[in-house]
Amino acid sequence: MFNSKRVAVTGGCGFLGSHLCEMLLKKGYEVICIDNCFTSSKKNIENFMSNPMFEFIRHDITFPLYIEVDEIYNLACPASPVHYQRDPVQTTKTCIHGAINMLGLAKRLNAKILQASTSEVYGDPEIHPQPEGYWGRVNPIGIRSCYDEGKRCAETLFFDYHRQHNLKIKIARIFNTYGPRMHPSDGRVVSNFIMQAIENKPITVYGDGSQTRSFCYVDDLIRGLVFLMESDDKVTGPINLGNPAELTVIELAKQVIEMCGSKSEIEFKPLPSDDPLKRKPDISLAAQELSWSPKVPLEKGLKATIDYFMGIFNA
Ligand code: NAD
Ligand code: UDP
Ligand code: UDP
Repeated sequence: MFNSKRVAVTGGCGFLGSHLCEMLLKKGYEVICIDNCFTSSKKNIENFMSNPMFEFIRHDITFPLYIEVDEIYNLACPASPVHYQRDPVQTTKTCIHGAINMLGLAKRLNAKILQASTSEVYGDPEIHPQPEGYWGRVNPIGIRSCYDEGKRCAETLFFDYHRQHNLKIKIARIFNTYGPRMHPSDGRVVSNFIMQAIENKPITVYGDGSQTRSFCYVDDLIRGLVFLMESDDKVTGPINLGNPAELTVIELAKQVIEMCGSKSEIEFKPLPSDDPLKRKPDISLAAQELSWSPKVPLEKGLKATIDYFMGIFNA
């Protein structure tokens, strides 16, 4: 037990974080989950709580943290627009003060650190699909900016700690990911549509539904994150992780209605401001550097996610 790697996961109670903790425990590592439960609860980690290799620390990463670990995955940050816009100043603080604290921790320990960045750094893109070399088109003062600019500045901090202090860094630009353990009231499109379909309530399509997204199943994404962390030190990223299978929001709504056997009708609602019109990852760098590509097709991933939400609904 004392020889195993000790890994910190900030945001470890969240959707992606809890799957990551599970995967790292399976690999035999000691896992320290750090979370203030802002958009989650201990429910996602209840199955690991009795595992002696797992420890939960309730902590807000905008404050310093002194622990001893070998690797840090920095995932703490609300990810759904509804949640990150609820307290936008706290979102920026989490992105920036949180990154500084975790980078300071990594610097003291000479630990490797991975940042969960986002496709949002590309904003509403003029280049399609988006390669890592594209600098993006982001509104600095809009309602999404606390998240987009926060994540962009976090990338800057990671690269400056790398250049200035020789820190071993890894940056993953994560595209829309879905799967079991998303919170039913998370507010993101996949969980909204599935819950609405199960309850036979109107499916809320924002705008005319012609905007596109490319959805990656959670297991594929987590595998990519671990591959990136365990890649050669010279692989810093940023590196796109996502599934390039692109579809419109209206196509997603129809597929969810059909797969749930739902009586729901589509209801159009206003498009929120700065909502990107299209998004699709260019994943050639991940294929080249990590030999990674997603394997789970949308239909299979949606089925697993619908089964999970059905379980919650019937509980
Ligand atoms: P989530 O909201 O389910 O999880 C985020 C977790 O971070 C929650 O448990 C929350 O309580 C915690 N948290 C928030 N602020 C914190 C703070 N100040 N201190 C400690 N903990 C804090 O979201 P998710 O989908 O699991 O996203 C995880 C990470 O991946 C985020 O950084 C997000 O930006 C990034 N990401 C996710 C997606 C996606 O599609 N899921 C896409 C791009 C990027
Ligand atoms: N920090 C932390 N844990 C540590 C070391 C540092 O939380 O183990 C925080 C601390 O709050 C500090 C920040 O990380 O302000 C940045 O650390 P760094 O060493 O880069 O800067 P400095 O301490 O000089 O401000
Ligand atoms: N969306 C929608 N209905 C919803 C939730 C979201 O039509 O109930 C749209 C949203 O406007 C966006 C897309 O679905 O165009 C993806 O939204 P999400 O919040 O999941 O993630 P984003 O990629 O915008 O961060």
